[in-house]
Amino acid sequence: MSEYRFERRSGDEMLHMTLMNGQARVLLCETTELTQRCSDIHNATPLATAALGRLMAGTLMMSVQLKGEHEDVSVTVKGDGPIGTLVCVGEHGNVRACCDDPGLTLPLREDGKLNVGAAVGRTGRMSVVKDLGMREPYVGQCQLVSGEIAMDFANYFTASEQQPSLVALGVLTSGERVLKAGGLLIQPMPGCEESTIEQLELRSPMFADISRELAAAPKEELAEDWFRGMEPRLLERTPLRYRCTCSRERMERALLSMGSADLKEIIDDDRGAELGCHFCGSKYFFTTDELKALLASGRKTDVQDDRL
Ligand SMILES: [Zn+2]
Repeated sequence: MSEYRFERRSGDEMLHMTLMNGQARVLLCETTELTQRCSDIHNATPLATAALGRLMAGTLMMSVQLKGEHEDVSVTVKGDGPIGTLVCVGEHGNVRACCDDPGLTLPLREDGKLNVGAAVGRTGRMSVVKDLGMREPYVGQCQLVSGEIAMDFANYFTASEQQPSLVALGVLTSGERVLKAGGLLIQPMPGCEESTIEQLELRSPMFADISRELAAAPKEELAEDWFRGMEPRLLERTPLRYRCTCSRERMERALLSMGSADLKEIIDDDRGAELGCHFCGSKYFFTTDELKALLASGRKTDVQDDRL
């Protein structure tokens, strides 16, 4: 059998692959540019960038598997650490993320790495909401196991979706610069042979430090090396980017969802209202007259709350 060679492409992208004729599914992504963009938007420290970057790579590995056009997945990590709550929304290859304290710094771990686990906290919850375009979204939840994000995703897949998974997520920074970021997800499919799982476990140290690996070689070369002899097959490639979907209409819905009493109070203050988007920093200003019109229209249509 001939060895596989995948076409090299630069930039943020997700590779969808199978191994051993479909016995296992693999997602491998590079997320360097979108992580840098997120870091710039939030003026984030390297520590917060690492936490947000890992969360985005993990969330993207869920969102690229969505089938419907308007489906999205939100992952919220709420630990007892000083960074506060992290929120990430993935819509196929588009992602956005924020956290309570992007300015957080903490001492490095003993091994010289950024201490994401201490920033997030080891006690808390990870919740996943998949909006699949139906009336009720799918909601899954589990306890955090390490706060390092990758292990938490692996635990979530295993505990909440009954899908054993190997997850590696990484962000390599130098000062304010994101050198490399990316992630890997390996999931055995039903009927996967024990020998295939053993092979993957044996090779797992190779992909543990994924951002350093990506710094050394293109993702396609890594896939060829890591899965040599395991029939890696590239099925699909998804371009990835940081993209916010906020709009004036969404901000209007957010204002209406405050309730008419609070909205009236802002109108009475007569200073207008400025709303900022948590994910991209865009500002939306509403004059008192606009707020009055909004309140009047909201009474007529009974608009429902909408996630931003
Ligand atoms: Zn926005």
